[in-house]
Amino acid sequence: MQMNRSKSEQYYAEALEHIVGGVNSPSRSFKAVGGGAPVFMKRGQGAYFYDEDDNKYIDYLAAYGPIITGHAHPHITKAITEAASNGTLLGTPTVLEIKLAKMLKEAIPSMDKVRFVNSGTEAVMTTIRVARAYTKRNKIIKFAGNYHGHSDLVLVAAGSGPSTLGIPDSAGIPASIAQEVITVPYNDLSGLEEALKKWGHDVAAVMVEPIVGNFGMVMPKPGFLEGLCKLAHDHGALVIYDEVITAFRFHYGSTQTYAGLDNHDLIKPDLTALGKIIGGGLPIGAYGGSKEVMEQVAPLGPAYQAGTMAGNPASISAGIACLEVLSQPGVYEEMERLTIKLTEGIQAAADRHGIPLTINRVRGSFSTHFCDHPVTDYEEAQDTDGEAFASFFQHMLNRGVHLAPSKYEAWFLTTEHTDADIEATIAAADSSFEAMAKE
Ligand code: PMP
Repeated sequence: MQMNRSKSEQYYAEALEHIVGGVNSPSRSFKAVGGGAPVFMKRGQGAYFYDEDDNKYIDYLAAYGPIITGHAHPHITKAITEAASNGTLLGTPTVLEIKLAKMLKEAIPSMDKVRFVNSGTEAVMTTIRVARAYTKRNKIIKFAGNYHGHSDLVLVAAGSGPSTLGIPDSAGIPASIAQEVITVPYNDLSGLEEALKKWGHDVAAVMVEPIVGNFGMVMPKPGFLEGLCKLAHDHGALVIYDEVITAFRFHYGSTQTYAGLDNHDLIKPDLTALGKIIGGGLPIGAYGGSKEVMEQVAPLGPAYQAGTMAGNPASISAGIACLEVLSQPGVYEEMERLTIKLTEGIQAAADRHGIPLTINRVRGSFSTHFCDHPVTDYEEAQDTDGEAFASFFQHMLNRGVHLAPSKYEAWFLTTEHTDADIEATIAAADSSFEAMAKE
């Protein structure tokens, strides 16, 4: 089964002439799934994509998370249009910023004060600076396989062994910077404890994706976040939650308030980084935390952070509109109902065709790991069949289902997916597994 995507191929060849690698984010390339032209989309509507050859796809990419209400949601589109007609960028405060800040604070009570920036990368990068300013320490502990954007410090050592000092994952990062980052395994408190014992006196913060979204969806083991917060605080370090993916993904709030996790008081971070969903599909990031810590930030304190585009009315309006949609009763329950139906259907199809598959689901999102063991940390996520994922990805694409082109990325449902979409996706998976079983 091969769909005609000749226009995408043509445009990709042209893009390669002008845009480095033909894409504006490496995760959009099909390099990890056997190569070929990424699909050039003409438009998105609800749960669907339409490409330049007029093929239709059910979208589970959701633009890597932000598009939780589907493409071109009328309530969000109206908010953006109105904001644009009043001036896209004023360079002064507006009341819109107060409104979104209040909405975020209400949903995520560990944040007394908020600051808007333009991306998740910026949000995370600044939380680190603020933590360093507050603690007057230099080092950061992160967890293997957690992704925190592309700033120098956090591009270090996804995947290095326990408690080793970091080696950069990217060229262009000085060893002197990598030396400030310690990577330990996720879901394993002993590695963290060991690292804190050794370097704790100079650790400014422990940074974590509290529910992982970057080596599939992985829940913290019971007691992991609680232990992490206690260990960090016992050593005088701050806790930073990177909730760029997770905030408003599973419920109207964040991991810190998620009903699937107990003892919310004991898993409270000092700083939280946000992005994606809170911008309703326009560029945004935000960070926040306790009043005392946030008062490190200029103009109140010595930690400098600024932004020409920060808090622009279009992004803020889109974010408010998106949260308004998500605050309606039953929204998350319906996404979860459909996701349970989808994951059960995919698992049953894989079993039927003898394809080893582990699915990790957290409410309306999940990840598919081609393996016959559980996936609870980065090592287990790496130890999966990348070729099987690549084959599955290409088969699904040819059957009109668009997934993220990486075995480490999640599937995201939106408020616009329907039972019919789920049934069509299960049928596509069944036929893909059937084809894979013959390969
Ligand atoms: N943190 C996490 C957990 C992310 O998943 C991402 C992006 N996928 C980022 C930070 C960086 O966000 P952005 O791409 O908006 O810079």
